[in-house]
This record gives sequence, structure tokens and C-alpha cells, in this order.
Amino acid sequence: MAREVPLHRVRNIGIMAHIDAGKTTLSERILFYAGKTHRIGEVDEGKATMDWMPQERERGITITAAATSIAWREHRINLIDTPGHVDFTVEVERSLRVLDGAVALFCAVGGVQPQSRTVWRQAEKYGVPVIAFVNKMDRVGANFFAAVAEIERDLGANAVPVVIPIGEGDAFLGVVDLMEERAYYFSESEGNGRREAQPIPEALRNEVTSWRHHLLEKAAEADEELMAKFVANESITAAELRAGLRRATLTRQLVPVLCGAAARNRGVQPLLDAVVDYLPSPLDLPAVGAISPQGEALTCIPGDEQPLAALAFKVVADRHQGKLVYFRVYSGVMRAGTYVLNATRRKRERIGRLIEMHANRQHSREAIYCGDIGVAVGLDDTGTGDTLCDESHPLVLAPIEFPAPVMSVSIAPESSADRDRLGHGLARLAEEDPTFTVTYNPETEETIISGMGELHLDIIVDRLRREFGVGARVGAPEVAYRETIARAVEIEHKFVKQTGGRGQYAHICLRLEPLARGTGFEFVSEVVGGRIPHEYIPAVERGIRDALEQGAFAAYPVVDVRAVLYDGSHHEVDSSDLAFRTCAAQAFREAARRAGSLLLEPVMSVHIVTPAEFAGAVNSDLCGRRGRITGVGRKEQLCEIEALVPLARMFGYATQLRTLTQGRATFTMQFDHYQSLPAALAEEIAARRRERRLRQAG
Ligand code: GDP
Repeated sequence: MAREVPLHRVRNIGIMAHIDAGKTTLSERILFYAGKTHRIGEVDEGKATMDWMPQERERGITITAAATSIAWREHRINLIDTPGHVDFTVEVERSLRVLDGAVALFCAVGGVQPQSRTVWRQAEKYGVPVIAFVNKMDRVGANFFAAVAEIERDLGANAVPVVIPIGEGDAFLGVVDLMEERAYYFSESEGNGRREAQPIPEALRNEVTSWRHHLLEKAAEADEELMAKFVANESITAAELRAGLRRATLTRQLVPVLCGAAARNRGVQPLLDAVVDYLPSPLDLPAVGAISPQGEALTCIPGDEQPLAALAFKVVADRHQGKLVYFRVYSGVMRAGTYVLNATRRKRERIGRLIEMHANRQHSREAIYCGDIGVAVGLDDTGTGDTLCDESHPLVLAPIEFPAPVMSVSIAPESSADRDRLGHGLARLAEEDPTFTVTYNPETEETIISGMGELHLDIIVDRLRREFGVGARVGAPEVAYRETIARAVEIEHKFVKQTGGRGQYAHICLRLEPLARGTGFEFVSEVVGGRIPHEYIPAVERGIRDALEQGAFAAYPVVDVRAVLYDGSHHEVDSSDLAFRTCAAQAFREAARRAGSLLLEPVMSVHIVTPAEFAGAVNSDLCGRRGRITGVGRKEQLCEIEALVPLARMFGYATQLRTLTQGRATFTMQFDHYQSLPAALAEEIAARRRERRLRQAG
């Protein structure tokens, strides 16, 4: 079977918004108008089709990214669900990686909110073209033009309205399309939501003329073709204007802005039109980069006739079907029943069943074509971020970067029956989520789970209970500290053993150098002339990696170090992999001790919105938590505070903030960076840890 929709008519998009802007409601309406659902789900009743995990319904937030295909004006729109909650950084990162364009959603009353800024910055980082939708135009106090001005001022976007509202608040009835110069009214009733084109109301004539002029001007400034016509005073057709605006949106020079009220079924169809008209198809984007097994840079040319290259961007443990792998095809076609190469793990995998998802409903497919998103069932060895490709054209796509977990708790089964289920459940959940890890501490016989914040781990424990039926006790949260070296050092170290018979001999000269925060570990060999034979070098690296697991200072993992092996010697008979590995681990520990240690702690970026009267109390409380205020903004009666605060001082912050502000402030936080601790505090933490380890050992 050939593809249903040509590649230039495919749109992979996400809706980005802060919580409560109406993303779930809007997604529901989009599914409805595109003919996929027959009844509009109501978020408030907890039965929306997109948000299908029980916790999401209860908490009213979207946690996992689901991808859904819909048809609109002979195009296929793949709607990739992005999370509204920034605690789920991983979801934002992975969805931004596979979508080509985004709809940024704002509230017509709230305008640009702190979280809008966070997601906006992420879209910028990935160079994603954006259109904006100002929702909730029916609310009292809705102000479309104020929201547009904020998008320009606070986000630095070149925003330009392509529709203007007919009325605001209770009187919001529809929109005027500035391209076509036509008014659209929407019937509100459920299951209908039809739009009706009418002439522009007399009262809006002047406003329409001036905003249309504004649109022409902005589009011409951004697009040469339009500019030529504009200065020559030639008439510009709606089709020409649309094409110019499309070029300007794709190059991120302009952000077209629309408006509506999703909950009242108003303004949604024009938004879908705008997705088709202004957001990119996979053909409009630069070819995706990859590397060959030999390390050469390659590009994946979009097209069905090309060799297969697909990125697995999400793994879901499904209770009934087993493991589901969501993937996006960048070139070629993924076919059911064929073998592909998982080039990341160098494993051959058979594609069993392929499905196309519609939230929690699905259709089997023979093939998923270039540019599309599908789900494969039965891939045992594939994880998030892996590349699936043609066996005869191996390549690896740039992996998705995930931050390392910053906090952990111990978890223990409630009963012996829970024990097996716990192990199984944790393994499945870790497979889904690369920012969630599970480790076992044999000394204390504790299972430790680590993640990106309190809410993240709460949800994991919740899912264990609901999906895997595991009762578990959870310990007090702990910060994931790291260690690094304070200065560069050199060391010469010999490992020699004579125990009768064959001995052991290894000799290395090692230099350790501090690296920038967030760099991790690098190993370099400068050994020349076979003083250490080639085959032993990997053993040296392995020995150092062993030693990195527990630092010299407080037994936390060591990061941000370069180890340079610059000299050494070997013995014809007594040298071995094991000798070099042991020697390197010993050398590293000794060198790190001499270099002096810094203790690193995760620092969170925290956004708080509070009524202005509590801002003083919130600020001084943050300072008491070793926080640094990095920005304060004022919007009417509300104050926005941005701060960097060590995670160690943020446990239970939700409760404290509620107390300080009579429950009227909200906050979000996400990991920002690792930072070294003041020496006295570092010493205190190290001493506590040593004491605990001694107690556990004894
Ligand atoms: P999400 O957190 O962004 O997914 O937002 P939801 O779709 O869950 O919506 C949050 C709240 O806003 C719900 O109570 C919705 O009913 C309400 N809402 C969504 N769209 C509109 C709208 O167009 N007008 C009004 N007045 N309320 C809306």
C-alpha cells in the first residue's frame, strides 16, 4: 500500500503551554474537528481522550507524551503531546526533538506566564517554528491585543495577528480572518461547532483595515518577495500573503497569532488551517544529521525511497501489549514483519506489529512512511533515543540528551508478595523514562530510585501502585551530590605483585584535569612508542571508570574530570588487563585525593507567582534557603519571582509556600545546573555520609 498523504502535506506539531492554558481542551477539539472522536471529552469531567493515564485525569495534568494522527484539509497532522508541567523536562525535550513545528498556547487573561517562558526558550533551543493561539477569549478580562503585546515584549517574538476577535469576554463570538477579510462565527453547541463565514461587521471595519495593514507590513519586512510588491504598491493576493507569511514563519522571523475559546468551540478550525498554512512539513526543514559506524557525518534525506532511519523517542510499558516503542521516521519506510538494525545498540530487531495511535485507540498499519510517527510492538532491545535503520545502511541519529537524575529516595516492598512485582515494575518504568534510574545498594540492601524532582518520584510511586499493583514504602528524599577535583595533578603509580609463579605488573603516569560543569568524564591516552601496549589502554580507562563511581571525598560519583594517561611501562609476562585496571583505579583514587575535592549539588531554577503582598515574605524565605533571586517581575497584583535554589533546601517547599501566601502562590521548578558547595557545608555533608556508611557497614 502506498502512503496516504504526500510528504509535503505532513505536519508534526506539538502544543506548548503552561498548565491550565487549555491544552487538553484544545487537543480534544482538534481531534473532534478532524473527525476522530464523535463526542467532545470534557477535561473538567476527567474524561478527555488525550490524557489517558488515571493520574493525569486526577491531577488534571498531562504527563506522558502520546502522539495522535488526524486528517485536515487533505493533510496529515501528527499531534505530539507535550507536557504542561516543567518538572517533566524529559517529556518536553523528547517531544521537541521529534516535532517540526509548535502551537504556543496562551491564556487571554493571564497572557505570558512564567512557564510559557520556559517552554518558549526550549522551542528556541531546538529552532522550532511557532504559531501562537490566545485561548479563553470568552473569559472576563480577556484581552487579545494585550496578550500579543506581551508575547512581543516578554518573549521577544515578532508576533503578528492573522485574525482579530469579534468581541471579548461574554461577547466573544468569532474571529475576522485578516487574510481573507472575512468574519467567522462559531456555533457553540457540542458536536456542532460549525463555522459560518459572513461579511465583516461594520463596527470592526477600521480595526480590520489597520490590522491588515500591520500584517502586510510585517510580512513584507520579513519576506523579500512580498516587500518588492509592497513598495511597488502592487496588490497582494491572499495566497501570496499566505505564502510569504509561511516563509517568514518557517525561518522563525514571524509568529502568526490567532485566538479563540477552545472550551466554547470557537476559533479552532482557523487554528488548524494555520497549522497547515504556516507550519513546516518534514521537507521544509534542514536534513537531519547522523553519524556512520566509522564516525563520518551523514544526513538523512527525507523520502520514502531512501534507506530507513527512524528515532525511537518514547517507550511505554503497556499492561496488555507489552512494550510499545514510539518512533519517528526521518527517511525511508518502516515495514511490519521486516528486520531493522538498532544501530545504537548494534542489535537486530524484528518489527512485529506497527500501529498508528490515536491517544488510547489504535489502528494496525503495514507500514509507517517517511515523516510520520508510529508505534512498534515487540522490539525487545530498543530504548528511548535509539536509532532504528536499514541493516545495509547503518547510521546513528543524534541522540536525545537527557539530564541525570538529581534526587533519590529509597523504596522497599510492603510485603514479600510485593518484592517481585516491585523489581518488575521499576524495570519497566525505568525503560520508559531515561531520567528515572534504579540502583540497588548491596551494603544497605536498599533499592534507590532517582529522578528529576519530588513530583516526578511521587508519580512513579503512584504508577507502581496502580499499574503494577505494588505496595511500597518510600524513604526520605536525598540529594544526588557529585564530586569533582579542585585542581590538576599528576601521579605516577605502580601496581606490582610477586606471589610465586606469575606476578602482576602495571605502571602508569596519569594527569587529572578539572573540566567545566556538566562535561562529565573524558579519557585521553598520550602514550607513545608502545610503552603501554595498545591492548591495555581500555583496561586503564575501565579502572578509572570504576574509581569514578565513588569519589575520595564522600563516596559520591565523580564528574567533570579529564584523565590523561601520558606514560607508563609494562612487563612482558606479568602485565595483564586486570593489573592495569587495578593500577588505574588505585592511581585515580590517590590522585583525586591529592587534587582536593569539591562537592557539587544540584541547583534548581524556581519560578514563583504570588500576590504582590506576599512577595517580601517569599523572597526572604528563598534567601534563607541559600537561594539567589535572579529576576522579579510585576504584573498587576501579581509578582513573578525567579530564583536559583539548591535542591537540598527545596524539599517540602509546596507546603511552606502555601503557608507563607495563604495558599495563593504557585511555583514550578526544574533542574538547572550543578554547583560547588561552600567548603564548610561540604565537610558537614561528607561527615554525615561517612558516619552513615560506617553505621551501615557495622
Ligand atoms: P491544560 O492544563 O493546559 O491541559 O488545560 P485544560 O484543557 O485542562 O484546561 C484548564 C481549564 O481551563 C479547564 O477548567 C478548562 O475547562 C478551562 N478552559 C479551557 N479552554 C477554555 C476556554 O476557551 N475558555 C474558558 N473560559 N475556559 C477554558
